[in-house]
Amino acid sequence: MAKQQSMHCSFCGRNRDEVKILIAGQDGHICENCVEHAQEIIKVEVVPQKSDDQSGSKNKITIKKPIEIKTFLDEYVIGQDDAKKVLAVAVYNHYKRINQKSENDVEIEKSNIIMVGETGTGKTLLAKSIARMLNVPFAIVDATVFTEAGYVGEDVESMLSRLLQSCNYDVESAERGIVFIDEIDKIARKSDNPSITRDVSGEGVQQGLLKLLEGAEVLVPPQGGRKHPEQKMVKVNTQNILFICGGAFDGIDRIIAKRINTNAIGFNVNKELQDYQHSNLLQFINAVDLKQFGLIPELLGRLPVVTYLNPLDVLTLRSILTEPKNALIKQFIRLFEMEGIKLTFEPAVFDFMVQKALEYKLGARGLRSICEGILTDAMFELPSQKVTEFNVTLEYAENKFSITKMGILKVA
Ligand code: ADP
Repeated sequence: MAKQQSMHCSFCGRNRDEVKILIAGQDGHICENCVEHAQEIIKVEVVPQKSDDQSGSKNKITIKKPIEIKTFLDEYVIGQDDAKKVLAVAVYNHYKRINQKSENDVEIEKSNIIMVGETGTGKTLLAKSIARMLNVPFAIVDATVFTEAGYVGEDVESMLSRLLQSCNYDVESAERGIVFIDEIDKIARKSDNPSITRDVSGEGVQQGLLKLLEGAEVLVPPQGGRKHPEQKMVKVNTQNILFICGGAFDGIDRIIAKRINTNAIGFNVNKELQDYQHSNLLQFINAVDLKQFGLIPELLGRLPVVTYLNPLDVLTLRSILTEPKNALIKQFIRLFEMEGIKLTFEPAVFDFMVQKALEYKLGARGLRSICEGILTDAMFELPSQKVTEFNVTLEYAENKFSITKMGILKVA
């Protein structure tokens, strides 16, 4: 008993009864916490050095031509042709810029991108698909978690920690990766009037982003979070990291309308054209509108490519259900197939799902929960039954949906 009590971790000093396990060494012991800690240190210290030794050829990115990039995106993302085209060109130019010989006297600037569109229209999906195509490290971060350095919240540099984590701390790979900054509209300047209180989560963060977007050597805390003196920093050069920002920019249509003064188009102009322009104002978006919304000009200067996404209509939602390479319905069919069950749907079921997604204003994101709601009972019961086929009829779908939490709540 006395011996048991004297056993402790030689690294952190915790006693035997304070830890789950003590592993014995020649002259001491180590606990599970310290093993984990040591592993993290190894990840940061050893892996990057290993990659430094290599020639870097593994990081060579083969760039597809813009048309091929768009064709690739078409497999995963429905519609949004304008955004796809703009992205394809921007990404092509970006990686062409990286591959160019350094002695060239014409310096091509970075083509960081900003995408504007309602939530759930495919902004993240587009960025993710591009990273998948290029096979480069990819991180999604939320602009709302950041605050100006020195205030409660995360420093902007921690977005690079996520990128490092996504490629197992291979700094060289991370330096050619893509960061998707979501909700960039939420860090808009709060007001035009200078106030006594600092805008630490708005303009302060925009200022912090400037140097990252432009390209600089920054010290990144490998585990994310706040920088603190004890943590060993990793140096990352953001020169070749592509930043894609996305945001819904609620209300920006009014700013655009005011700028292009659609009301003043005149009496003789085709009414249909006017209506079309009104409902698709986002297509006219430019940096001036974004500035008016509250993004600072310096930030906009570092996000030279501006594009937009259309709201999803019935037809697009219907296609999203069944057409993309990993469409929702294809995923469910595969899940049932793994149970030896052939899953089929009455076509009217798809229309029903789309109608509910629109009714509940859930967009494409809602399709998944609606599908789950309808199929949960089947997924619960069928694996224990000897069934080889299952056809979802409209009646079945309506029935199951009506008893889901969503169905019970009903829209106002
Ligand atoms: P956003 O970033 O614009 O808020 P997301 O890209 O996260 O939206 O989209 C949410 C989900 O909706 C995606 O995972 C995808 O399944 C689906 N989705 C949205 N738009 C599309 C689209 N145009 N084509 C295919 N799927 C889409």
